[in-house]
Amino acid sequence: MKEKKSSIEKHTVTCPHCGKKALDHMTSCPHCKRELKSAYYDTANMDSPQRRKLRVIILAISLLAVAAIIVLKSVL
Ligand SMILES: [Zn+2]
Repeated sequence: MKEKKSSIEKHTVTCPHCGKKALDHMTSCPHCKRELKSAYYDTANMDSPQRRKLRVIILAISLLAVAAIIVLKSVL
């Protein structure tokens, strides 16, 4: 097995504007100075498991509230 990528290579992205290499934590290309939207930020913005759990709980509570309203309306 010969799979030894350098650490720098692993953290580079190709600029969509000029096609040159830029580091993936950069928000703008060092070559053409245009905005970079890197995968680094996409993963950083991903929901944490706790956040997802909280969202599920909120969704369940709101569903219960809607169900309660429907039941109350049919009773009244
Ligand atoms: Zn560029």
